[in-house]
Amino acid sequence: MDYRKQFFVSPDKKLKLAAIDPAHTAGHASSEEALPAIQKNVARMAELQALLYADGNQSLLVVLQALDAAGKDGVVRHLFSGMNPQGTSVFGFKQPSAEEAAHDFLWRAHKRTPARGEIVVFNRSHYEDVLVVRVHNLVPKPVWSGRYELIQDFEKLLVANGTRILKFFLHISPEEQLARFKQRLDDPARNWKISEGDYSEREFWSDYVEAYEEALSKTSSKDAPWYVIPANHKWFRNLAISQIITETMEDMGLKRPATRVDLKEITAKYHAAEAEQAQRNGKG
Ligand code: ATP
Ligand code: MG
Repeated sequence: MDYRKQFFVSPDKKLKLAAIDPAHTAGHASSEEALPAIQKNVARMAELQALLYADGNQSLLVVLQALDAAGKDGVVRHLFSGMNPQGTSVFGFKQPSAEEAAHDFLWRAHKRTPARGEIVVFNRSHYEDVLVVRVHNLVPKPVWSGRYELIQDFEKLLVANGTRILKFFLHISPEEQLARFKQRLDDPARNWKISEGDYSEREFWSDYVEAYEEALSKTSSKDAPWYVIPANHKWFRNLAISQIITETMEDMGLKRPATRVDLKEITAKYHAAEAEQAQRNGKG
């Protein structure tokens, strides 16, 4: 299944989230059935991350956006925990600090973008500045509506500098969100995740949908694609995202750098050192 085609947000037509079933599973029957493919992708992602690091010429930025309890943290935990922490990082975007708020809205995002060889995951992102900010009128409309273009230019700059950008919107239904809130209430290990805001934000569901539809359509492109991932089923969400990341990284043409030494010469040195060590051991 070509998830990169299926879930891509076309910049040419108006996105209608209501037309996308959040419970879609692309014909897969169960978590058990999907698990081997997820595990295979996760293992391959770890190899590709090592290769990206060794290659050292490109980088990958993964943006996760969603309403509360849609599974951003779960994606990070399931799909990125196999990677080498040297070269991988996750950054969560909260309400801007005083220092962040005193700068332009892209400042804090730009500071966290991946260096060559690195993977960075944005758990929420600069898109909050056209989402929550729009829904709650935190800045006037002329200000947030000018930001789509600024975001496009910002991402173009990153792409020109060798960064691949993948943006995922985790699409859940309001019923599924409520069911997950219930789990957080019932499970003491998850209680800490509950916030007042989770419930009050539900009132703004349709405003968020509208804000997401516009943001995703306006900022999706071949080079910085948005994907709407059906996320009611956590296992399908993990399958689709891991598949898209794996395929994208396979396409990056990553190469191990050439050996920097003359292998013949260094092998001779190795043998000399080995002989010397054996002699020393013999003496001792
Ligand atoms: P969880 O899904 O586990 O609840 P979270 O990402 O919602 O994690 P929180 O600390 O609960 O983490 O929420 C962060 C909050 O910060 C979100 O409500 C988000 O909308 C808000 N936020 C992020 N960026 C901005 C911004 N630029 N302006 C205003 N609010 C922002
Ligand atoms: Mg939250």
